Amino acid sequence: MALTDPAPPTHFIKRIIEEDLKTNKYDGRVMTRFPPEPNGYLHIGHAKSICLNFGLAETYGGLCNLRFDDTNPTKEEFEYVESIKEDVHWLGFDWDDRLYYASDYFEQLFDYAVQLIKKGKAYVDSLSAEEIKEYRGTLTEAGKESPYRNRSIEENLDLFRRMRAGEFQDGTHVLRAKIDMASGNLNMRDPVMYRILHAEHHRTGNKWCIYPMYDWAHGLCDSIEKITHSICTLEFEDHRPLYDWFLEELGVYQPQQIEFARLNLTHTVMSKRKLLRLVEEGYVRGWDDPRMPTISGLRRRGYTPEAVKDFSERIGVAKKDSMVDIKLLEWCIREDLNKHAPRVMGVLRPLRVVIENYPEDQVEELEAINNPENPTMGTRMVPFSRVLYVERDDFREDPPKKWFRLAPGREVRLRYGYYITCVDVVKDKKTGEVVELRCTYDPATKGGWSPDGRKVRGTLHWVSAGHAIEAEVRLYDHLFLKANPEEVEEGGDFKSNVSPNSLEVLQSCRLEPSLAGATPKSRYQFERLGYFCPDPDSSVSKLVFNRTVTLRDTWAKIEKKMKEEIKQ
Ligand code: ATP
Ligand code: MG
Repeated sequence: MALTDPAPPTHFIKRIIEEDLKTNKYDGRVMTRFPPEPNGYLHIGHAKSICLNFGLAETYGGLCNLRFDDTNPTKEEFEYVESIKEDVHWLGFDWDDRLYYASDYFEQLFDYAVQLIKKGKAYVDSLSAEEIKEYRGTLTEAGKESPYRNRSIEENLDLFRRMRAGEFQDGTHVLRAKIDMASGNLNMRDPVMYRILHAEHHRTGNKWCIYPMYDWAHGLCDSIEKITHSICTLEFEDHRPLYDWFLEELGVYQPQQIEFARLNLTHTVMSKRKLLRLVEEGYVRGWDDPRMPTISGLRRRGYTPEAVKDFSERIGVAKKDSMVDIKLLEWCIREDLNKHAPRVMGVLRPLRVVIENYPEDQVEELEAINNPENPTMGTRMVPFSRVLYVERDDFREDPPKKWFRLAPGREVRLRYGYYITCVDVVKDKKTGEVVELRCTYDPATKGGWSPDGRKVRGTLHWVSAGHAIEAEVRLYDHLFLKANPEEVEEGGDFKSNVSPNSLEVLQSCRLEPSLAGATPKSRYQFERLGYFCPDPDSSVSKLVFNRTVTLRDTWAKIEKKMKEEIKQ
């Protein structure tokens, strides 16, 4: 492949690939793969890896395979395979006919293992798992050779074949590479290649009772698929010598492994194992709970693939671990939705407003702009009538300084509507709670401006009570209180940092009637409140919306800041 118009390299992996293309290292090919283990749903960290692997292939005219690393039968499920495929597609990538499973190669991997045994480079060890651990040594101490290390090739071949044939119990034997028990790299101290596991595999059923270990399987799968750049996360850096050793000893095609720093995000955990615990122990409603950092959770929350891809680009690819602020992810979705989501009006906590001088039976259709950022999105009509709802938070009986919204005697603008003035407050006799505002409107201010030049500072969203549709709205906050949920008291674990306020469900919200036809894929900006999308739970008889993200700081935050300033 000739690079006609190379973009300037923006990270070290691109530089490596461009150098390899220049030197024709792999005959000008670029072949990457995304290799998830189907033991959970994918998270935003995987999204980064998907965007990187599929993205590099796209950039350099290469291909990217989807390969399931299904070497661990006990933790893997079909459900996960399906969800992973869906997530990769949702991000806009396609593996065409290159969908592979490590389990497709089990026979070939077995043959390779036999080759290594024949070369005297692998042996069957009959130490127990604990003994193997003990013999392994430590970072400062060399390991000890197993008494079984010098079994003859014939004996090893015989035992290994019998391991496969199911003659032995789990844990009685393993196949190990014969490398160096004194190596400074623990991964090179005769790593285990196969273990006996009488377990049913989601694809191979009961055909196998020995299963390959990750390090043994991974490099060979890469080799079989003629991968050029095998990109993985930093924790595999110390495994690279082993990756290379296996391939060199077998004399097979050798890709190069390149490590990059995994994505960590504030206020969330990023390991399938931990996410599974949140699901199983009921901290969230499922893998696709909108508070989860899973791709399916983000999707349900209303994130777009474009925003996730943009985020992946912006965080870049580094060689050193770091923690990315979740605000950046939120910023990316706001950027996207700001341009594309139509704006509508919805009232989350309704307070009834009666316009006393507005005729009882009159209804006007007022023109509202769908997206001021994007004039091509046009306008729509919203009904206005004598009885409206405004946001309860937009009224204060006793307003603080700099309050420009409704209060007794105050005039405000209703978006696309009229100026109204609060003339009276109706309270519940027993509780004293404000239940209704009595207001007047100025008919000369239609459209939201005054011919006499009279200015008002506050503009409120509203809906017409008789026309509004009811909905449940779910508001989300960070799943974890601490920026780093792993920061725990002695003896505690990450779950002690789960926020008790990550979900707030509001019933009887009132939305403008145009939202009646909202489909699951639609996204909206509810003016002044944030971005929202219908939840899959939503139905014609009961609308349910999720808040994807707020617009910016809420009034509560601004007020808190003001109070702090006053104190100083
Ligand atoms: P987890 O610990 O969440 O289970 P994993 O690395 O075990 O992650 P795999 O299914 O093995 O999950 O990962 C598939 C690919 O995604 C691997 O290449 C892995 O390096 C990459 N990946 C996983 N987590 C991250 C992350 N946080 N950031 C970037 N890439 C990641
Ligand atoms: Mg893994």
